[in-house]
Amino acid sequence: MRTITNHMPTAELQALDAAHHMHPFTTNAQLGKKGARIITRAKGVFLTDSDGHEIIDGMAGLWCVNVGYGRDSMAEAAARQIRELPYYNTFFQTSHVPAIALAARIAELAPGDLNHVFFASSGSEANETNIRLVRHYWALKGQPERSVIISRMNGYHGSGMGSASLGGMVSMHEQGNLPIPGIVHIGQPHWYAEGGDMTPEEFGLKRARELEEKILEIGADRVGAFIAEPVQGAGGVIIAPDSYWPEIQRIVDKYGILLIADEVITGFGRTGNWFGSQTLNIMPHIMTIAKGLSSGYAPIGGSVVCDEVAAVIGSDEFNHGYTYSGHPVAAAIALENLRIMEEEGVVEHVRDVAHPHLAERWHALGDHPLVGETKLIGMMGSLALTPEKGSRARFAADAGTAGYITRERCFANNVIMRHVYDRMIISPPLVMTTDEIDILIDRATLALDEAYAQLK
Ligand code: PLP
Repeated sequence: MRTITNHMPTAELQALDAAHHMHPFTTNAQLGKKGARIITRAKGVFLTDSDGHEIIDGMAGLWCVNVGYGRDSMAEAAARQIRELPYYNTFFQTSHVPAIALAARIAELAPGDLNHVFFASSGSEANETNIRLVRHYWALKGQPERSVIISRMNGYHGSGMGSASLGGMVSMHEQGNLPIPGIVHIGQPHWYAEGGDMTPEEFGLKRARELEEKILEIGADRVGAFIAEPVQGAGGVIIAPDSYWPEIQRIVDKYGILLIADEVITGFGRTGNWFGSQTLNIMPHIMTIAKGLSSGYAPIGGSVVCDEVAAVIGSDEFNHGYTYSGHPVAAAIALENLRIMEEEGVVEHVRDVAHPHLAERWHALGDHPLVGETKLIGMMGSLALTPEKGSRARFAADAGTAGYITRERCFANNVIMRHVYDRMIISPPLVMTTDEIDILIDRATLALDEAYAQLK
């Protein structure tokens, strides 16, 4: 067997990667022309690539490395658990200490009576679980026809058949005949792009009331749940107007439908509280968690379920589960991650650095000639690019301006940001210091300046 290491020349690694490795959300044929950037190691908030560049990670990997890279205690927790019990399942009335301890800890942290955890290995899997939970819950309550789940255009809930259907990504629905039956979408609360002449508050109410209209159109007795991210992440860090969530809460309460908050990004400190639902004052019946639960050190996710739903589901055998539900090594890593977050006060740190430092620096980018608006909540932010300062004009979707900035200019300046259509986004490790925030924003500014010079 050939040994492939970090020390091989980049071009050789890229050629092997292009030949054998199919990447997610990538035009794989292009990898043969322009190879992937290969990350070889990471420490704190910095990544190193195979050419030795030190890159500041403005995205915490994929919105997940909340405690930063290179934590020895996480490696030790994993090694300890592998030695003691590397695997056992949680099916058929068996359990183990890491899954028990993690479920209990999540129940302590979660708001209200969200006291029960069904484990999965990812956010997608957890949302697949949620579809089955919702439908089985209503069936057990004698209302099996309440199987429709309402979600939002431009929401993201994962890549499985069910979870991608819950999502509202047109580019995903176009591939593979999605959504599956029984999942319908309403508009998103994205005032900047879709609010027209309305004020943000008017628009927030309008978009929330689409939920009520949809419930009435389908029939309240057929709707089981509404799912949404407290803040749309992959959709471009879209923060709803203040009027939106109270109206959504009123509507789900009025019609007695289940509210699922997909906290895969907003959970575990991202918005300045343990959960985005707390920041936005919403009370879900189910929360989807993943990513920050283990800071990405191990694949683990789950559905956090309220007392009532858990009691109903628990009255029957739930014919659902994954080989790795509550995987002991992943659970041990997640527990260590939560211990670090608590001991180091990571959630408090988010509040301290987000306001005023990150907020001041981020919103100052609003003065840049290419920037139409800046948005920030806790440590997730977005900026809209515009060809016409002072208007809400957008670059044509296919012009690739945001792509050029994030892929070319950000790479050239050793900063990782991401773009969604015409928005550039950040979601850095939550432990980022104010000095590191300055590095991040300085490099982002250079990337924007270079793009502006190029476009002029
Ligand atoms: N839900 C949300 C809100 C997400 O942002 C994501 C991933 O980005 C998922 C679900 C899917 O999670 P995973 O990629 O772990 O399957």
